[in-house]
This record gives sequence, C-alpha cells and structure tokens, in this order.
Amino acid sequence: MEADRNFTVLAVSDNYASSDILNSILSSYYNVKIAACAKDALALLKGAEVDLVILDYEYHSKEGHDFLMSIKSAEETLRIPVILIGDSSNPEYEELAFALGAADYISKPLRASIVKVRVNNQRLIVRQIKAIEELGLLDPLTGIANRRGFDSRINLEWLRAIRDKTHFSLAVADIDHFKAYNDDYGHIQGDVLLRAIAKQIVLMLKRPADFVARWGGEEFVIMLPNTNLRGAIMHSEEIRKSVEKMVVPNLPGATISIGVASTIPSSSTSMQGFFNMADKALYKAKHSGRNKVCHFS
Ligand code: GH3
Ligand code: MG
Ligand code: MG
Ligand code: MG
Repeated sequence: MEADRNFTVLAVSDNYASSDILNSILSSYYNVKIAACAKDALALLKGAEVDLVILDYEYHSKEGHDFLMSIKSAEETLRIPVILIGDSSNPEYEELAFALGAADYISKPLRASIVKVRVNNQRLIVRQIKAIEELGLLDPLTGIANRRGFDSRINLEWLRAIRDKTHFSLAVADIDHFKAYNDDYGHIQGDVLLRAIAKQIVLMLKRPADFVARWGGEEFVIMLPNTNLRGAIMHSEEIRKSVEKMVVPNLPGATISIGVASTIPSSSTSMQGFFNMADKALYKAKHSGRNKVCHFS
C-alpha cells in the first residue's frame, strides 16, 4: 500500500488498546493523530487539516454519538469521512453508524489488513474528490458544480436532446435580497445560507440527469433534461417552496426566485438564447414580488 504522509487520520478512541493498535497499523503510511476523548478530537479538528476520522467508542456511548453528530452537522467538517469501529456482535450499531453519516464501519477485533484497506479506500475517495476540485469543476464554497462543471454537463445533455428531439428545461434561481441578508447577518452567515440552499436544491433533484450548479454569486442554474415546461414549472415550484420552508440553525431563512425556460432544441437553437429566456423569466419573478417561479413565454 502506498504511503501518503499528507493524509491526516484522526483516531478517536476511549480505549487505549484500540488507539495503540490503530496507531501501529496506520502510522507507517499516514500522518496519524490520536485523541482520547471527543473534546480533544474537536480541538484537533479545529487546529489541523484532518482528512479522515476513525471513531472507536462503546456501543451506545453518548459521547461517541454526539461527536459524530457534531462532525456531520458543522459546515467545516461535514465532508470529512468518518469510519466507525464497533463491536461485531452489534449489527444494529453498523446500521446506526451509516444512518448517522459514517462513511464506513469496521468491526472488532481489528485486523491490520482490513483496517489498511478500508482506510485506503477512503483516502482514494478523498483524493479523487480533490482531483475533481483541482480540475476546476466544483465550487469550493458549496461543493456543487461551478459554471465550468455545468457547461461540460449541459453540452452533453443538450446534444442528446437535439438527437432525441426531447424537451429540455432550464431553471435559474437567485436568492432574494441577499445583499441585505449579508448586511444584516454578515458575510460568513451569508455563506452558510448559500451552502444550505445549494444542499437543499441538490436534495430536491430527483432524476439522475437533473443537475444544479452555482452559476456565480447567489445564483444557481438547474438543468432538467427530458422535462417539459409544465414539469419544469412544477419542479421549480417545489424547490422554491422547500427553500422557503428550510430551517437553517441559528439563522433566519430566505427565499429564492426562479426563472424557467423550456424548449425542444434543434441544431439551430442557440443555447445562449435559451439561457437568456430563463434569465428574462427570472427578471419577471424578481419584478413581480420575488419568492416566485416565472416562465418565459
Ligand atoms: P435580488 O432579490 O434582486 O436578487 O437582490 P439581491 O440583494 O440578492 O441581489 P444583488 O445582485 O443586489 O446582490 C447580490 C448579493 O449577493 C451581493 C453579495 O453581497 C451577495 N453574494 C454574492 N456572492 C456571495 C458569496 O459567495 N457569499 C456571500 N455571503 N454573499 C454573496
Ligand atoms: Mg440580483
Ligand atoms: Mg439575489
Ligand atoms: Mg443575483
């Protein structure tokens, strides 16, 4: 197995024997940090770039459970994968681990070969995500695609729609009065809201070909292949409503306006013109009171 000294693994265990074993299995490959309690682990997570967390706690330990929840609910840490270690006699624990957002589960007794492979699997995923980010197709703030990522996807789907003569819809969503939101609550909180809205839109997309990107600033574009105008309006309305209802911890919510356009593209249809249609519809939504879905007609 390949050593990767820039890969930092934080092992959190209330059991000294386990942390010793993990340390001896992993420290010849990775940069390993050990914490004996959740409090120390959280301090380490704040102070250093951690790529993977391994969590070994007694079944039903409240501290272990709370620690996992706090990692998975804080914006700064929620994308760090967590491997849970549990007692093999507790299959419910494994189920619970995944329900709480763990990336993987290893049962005791710990076997060096298994631990090595499972950790390396997570490392490969982390490295692949980083490579995609470095290709410049993801927006680092929200974790969804950026404009370049969207362009590469829409070109494929657009050509497919031309070939298959199917409907193609586009929705452009823009946060309402976001400048005032930043002014009132600060830019950092504004960023938290942006991420929450991005995540909410992703959650609302149902079909595999549906795709959302951050178009820039506080604007998102959503591509809905194989969807006609009526379907796109309905879907956009569901997204608008879900954002309106969204609860962001410790922050007031916000609303979005959406402009929708739909076409059956042919080789002579201008994609730019199509984007302009959705933009015009968004303008209409803004000027007729915001928190609305309007379509181009
Ligand atoms: P409208 O309802 O007409 O869209 O009003 P608005 O205030 O949302 O629109 P405007 O275009 O005037 O301002 C957009 C604001 O979005 C300005 C900027 O402060 C904020 N914004 C853009 N990008 C970011 C970002 O990455 N983070 C944060 N926190 N704010 C951003
Ligand atoms: Mg604006
Ligand atoms: Mg706006
Ligand atoms: Mg805008």
